[in-house]
Amino acid sequence: MSTEPHVSIPDRVRQILPLARPKKSLGQHFLTSRSILQNIVSAADVGPDDTVVEIGPGLGSLTQSLADAAGKVVAIELDDALAAALTEACLETPNVSVIHADAREIAIDSLLGPGHPPYKVVANLPYYAALPILRRFLEAEHPPSVLVVMIQLEVARAMVAQPGDMSLVSIAVQAYGTPRMVCRVPPGAFNPPPKVTSAVVRIDMNDKPIVGAPHMTNFFKVVRGGFSAPRKQLLNSLSQGLRLPRDSTAEALTEASIDAKLRPEDLSLEDWANLANALERKL
Ligand code: SAH
Repeated sequence: MSTEPHVSIPDRVRQILPLARPKKSLGQHFLTSRSILQNIVSAADVGPDDTVVEIGPGLGSLTQSLADAAGKVVAIELDDALAAALTEACLETPNVSVIHADAREIAIDSLLGPGHPPYKVVANLPYYAALPILRRFLEAEHPPSVLVVMIQLEVARAMVAQPGDMSLVSIAVQAYGTPRMVCRVPPGAFNPPPKVTSAVVRIDMNDKPIVGAPHMTNFFKVVRGGFSAPRKQLLNSLSQGLRLPRDSTAEALTEASIDAKLRPEDLSLEDWANLANALERKL
């Protein structure tokens, strides 16, 4: 039986790990603002029926808020010392399990057991690895229903961008889900404070990705080709990026009803899907 029934996960972690010096190399900026923690949990609509995968629990503040609201929390931490301390701290919190692993390489299907139960991802992400981690979950065979993540404001803006302002990041996210900005977060909400402003983003997974799974590789090949020279007009950037003759590139643009003078940032997701379709046989 617990001798410290009222000790919270973060307090317990601090007891076990008195010299937790944040590691810059692992993007450790621990969230200290109660109101932002609450914003994150409520943006994810976490309730007792939910299973939540948290990435980078750190000292466990978000983990504690999630454990209070969710049915089950699976927390993935890469740092050896933090993972060990958090595992021990969570022994008396039966709905939290801690997994010591790299979220960029995690085998998602083995995380949650058989039957592929639905789950949400909620995380204050390490910024150096935010995109590879998101990619792992967005592209998973069994993706989450919703992701609510803290990332750099600049990356958040790229995610929610619309035609006229699109980049590879906007397309990589919007090919799978619909992102929206939840709130901005100043550096002072963390300890130690990061150099950049942060933001919380909610991504609702789309029922169907923009193109079928077998065509995804071709889709991203075309998108990457198009963005190889983001300032150039599409005819040039595409034929250069994909090493295709100008005339067959022009043909594909016409077939997809896209003005060859536009720039890659101007196209919508549907434009890219049509273009990838028109180019599929030429590549
Ligand atoms: N969620 C905590 C800590 C966020 S800092 C809070 O809000 O206070 C980012 C956390 O991600 C750190 O604990 C860091 O050790 C962990 N981390 C860094 N790289 C990781 C990776 N590749 N996979 C899983 N966790 C990682």
